[in-house]
Amino acid sequence: MNITEPSFDEAEIALLRECLDSKWVTQGPLTERFERLIAEKHDVKHALACTSCTAALHLATMALKLGPGDEVIVPAFTWVTSAHSAEYVGAKPVFVDVDLSTYNIDPERLEAAITPRTKAIIAVHLFGLAAPMDEILAIARPRGIQVIEDAACAIGTTYKGRLVGAIGDIGCFSFHPRKAVTTGEGGAVTTNRDDLAARVRSQRNHGATGAPDPSIEPHGPWTMATFDNLGFNLRLSDIQAAVGVAQMGKLDRLLSERRRLGRRYSELLTEVNSIARPLGGDLDGHTYQSYVIRVLEGGRMRRNALMTALANQKIQTRPGTHAVHRLGYYANKYALKPEQFPNAALAEDTTITLPIFPGMTEDDQNQVVKILRAVG
Ligand SMILES: *Cc1c(COP(=O)(O)O)cnc(C)c1O
Repeated sequence: MNITEPSFDEAEIALLRECLDSKWVTQGPLTERFERLIAEKHDVKHALACTSCTAALHLATMALKLGPGDEVIVPAFTWVTSAHSAEYVGAKPVFVDVDLSTYNIDPERLEAAITPRTKAIIAVHLFGLAAPMDEILAIARPRGIQVIEDAACAIGTTYKGRLVGAIGDIGCFSFHPRKAVTTGEGGAVTTNRDDLAARVRSQRNHGATGAPDPSIEPHGPWTMATFDNLGFNLRLSDIQAAVGVAQMGKLDRLLSERRRLGRRYSELLTEVNSIARPLGGDLDGHTYQSYVIRVLEGGRMRRNALMTALANQKIQTRPGTHAVHRLGYYANKYALKPEQFPNAALAEDTTITLPIFPGMTEDDQNQVVKILRAVG
């Protein structure tokens, strides 16, 4: 049993055929359609597709003009590129420990990490559960700190009824195959701010900034873009967007299926006392990109034994994610100690992501639960 499987059918094939028949395969009309679907879904003014959520986060830190001397708050338990996005622009990631009941940033610890150099907070909605946005914004807004939402795992996730990705200043999504919607690789930036959208548009397209002044020379076939910025090529292709448009067409079904399976896991695991289920935060809005349990006794060794028991039955699992402060790059560069963020360390050592994907049967799920009941 795989940990996840994308849901593809004739819809993707029809749109891929449409794309290939059109002979237009780089960023073009299908990317625009994909972007419109993302923007409409999130009720946000701008959605800009790009090559990955890592690219989206990089575009976000560039658009917010973060750089050397600036500090960016990042939860210590997240995918490594949440932190890399600060490093890419020369800013310093400042880690904050997470709340073990949500695996998201702990707002009480967040306030203590703010300094006069703090310019942005990366609010990660880990595993599909919204970060505590009210508390984050209450700290950020009065101080003029910008909020980037890392919604890589959280398309369709709501926080107090509002879709994430459009609550802060700028949102970042992933369409990697481990996420609820996939284009193979892919990402998107969402924002209501015109200034940020314009910068993202330019930076993903080599730094192109528009067209030269037509009073100097009238526009014609000879007209080339102006480049006033140093940009990158972070464009999504229309081949990928074709798959994305098809995936967005079934988003609601994909998410309701994940929600159903996530809640069913939680019910079935109620009596397994040695395992913590997802129990904190705005659970109504959880989309279960990952269903993550935590082994409460026996630490990393016992977690690994449980993963081995599952693997022996051909059930694929993975740890939740990284305690980023323990990774060599960050530990060495900032002299961080493993015990500095104890919840992140414990989460990395004792979490297990269980298989969850639309199309997973109840029999599949029962099989996973049976092993957890027997061994857990
Ligand atoms: C998956 C993920 C990313 C990276 O997304 P890519 O599209 O693979 O670059 C970033 N942040 C979080 C929290 C993620 O889960």
